[in-house]
Amino acid sequence: MTRQVLTLPGDGIGQEIVAEATKVLDALRADFGLDITLEQGLIGGAAYDARGVPLPEETLEQARASAGILLGAVGGPQYDKLERPLRPERGLLAIRSELGLFGNLRPAILYPQLAESSALKPDVVAGLDIMIVRELTGGIYFGEPRGIRTLENGERQGYNTLVYSESEIERIGRLAFETARKRDKRLCSVDKANVLEVTELWREVMDRLSADYPDVELSHMYVDNAAMQLVRTPKQFDVIVTGNMFGDILSDCAAMLTGSIGMLPSASLDEEGRGMYEPVHGSAPDIAGQDLANPLATILSVAMMLRYSLGEAAHAERVQRAVGRVLDQGLRTPDIHTGDTRRVGTREMGDAVVAALYD
Ligand code: NAD
Repeated sequence: MTRQVLTLPGDGIGQEIVAEATKVLDALRADFGLDITLEQGLIGGAAYDARGVPLPEETLEQARASAGILLGAVGGPQYDKLERPLRPERGLLAIRSELGLFGNLRPAILYPQLAESSALKPDVVAGLDIMIVRELTGGIYFGEPRGIRTLENGERQGYNTLVYSESEIERIGRLAFETARKRDKRLCSVDKANVLEVTELWREVMDRLSADYPDVELSHMYVDNAAMQLVRTPKQFDVIVTGNMFGDILSDCAAMLTGSIGMLPSASLDEEGRGMYEPVHGSAPDIAGQDLANPLATILSVAMMLRYSLGEAAHAERVQRAVGRVLDQGLRTPDIHTGDTRRVGTREMGDAVVAALYD
């Protein structure tokens, strides 16, 4: 059965990097028998400009009809003054929650060719391969009540609510245990159970689940310690599972261990394994439209989509191998460029990956 893939380029460099990833998908379709159709849709500031909202109903319909969605990035300074519900980032939060994309897989892998790009010493990070499993549709980013209110004394007060129900914790916990099972079978659950009751419950549920996964070694860590350990001895981790806000912060920290945010893909999955795939980084307005962006995180997101939502592991491996080859050839976009490697632009990098698919 032919499956539909939806691309949502979004804003800023999103347009450029999704164009390169689309070249890869087109080559797989044309010459390697990948049976998909490709559609394009609107999200973020691009959707606001065209339709007046950051997530038009037609985009949701396209998304619901697709087996996999490839997103570029959303946001830009020209939208920062809009009312909150109209901001591009709201479109992203809304599509994740409308599609029930509760589980975010964010690998932090250091390619051996890029060990010099990390801010840490090469021996601390060489061979790094961590998977962060972040809860994506609950916690403090969605909890109600929320807002800014004026107190009786006239002072303004901002407030948000951190809530997790047992079923939400169990769902992300099972995804994390299953993920650990396919790797080195070590799972570290990160919380703040010494201060926050909601994460006391989180810890209790993780302990209960671990009885169903006796082959996986479960440990617990407070989030402040986890941040410290990630930059001290990151290779101690295999899979980390945590809530929405802690995961947001820790995964960016893990991203920087690898040298460039431009190298890191991510997957957001629903309960049936359908998903949205996107680079970890944002729309990078500072370099947008200048052929400077690294398209590899988006191309590696295509590989994750092929593997996790389309069941096309062989195609996924072909894409990952092609990325490894261009790094071996010494091609580097400016964000990962060092000494004796060759500096290339977004388009040349994309073309090189496509060429390497055929090697
Ligand atoms: P950012 O990730 O866009 O950029 C941070 C830094 O990394 C910038 O210096 C940028 O040039 C660089 N960078 C990012 N991606 C790169 C790539 N592929 N190649 C080379 N360099 C790259 O984060 P920011 O500057 O905090 O945010 C910019 C906009 O993106 C904001 O509007 C923000 O809301 C939005 N944003 C969107 C997402 C998303 O769509 N998922 C995520 C984060 C931020």
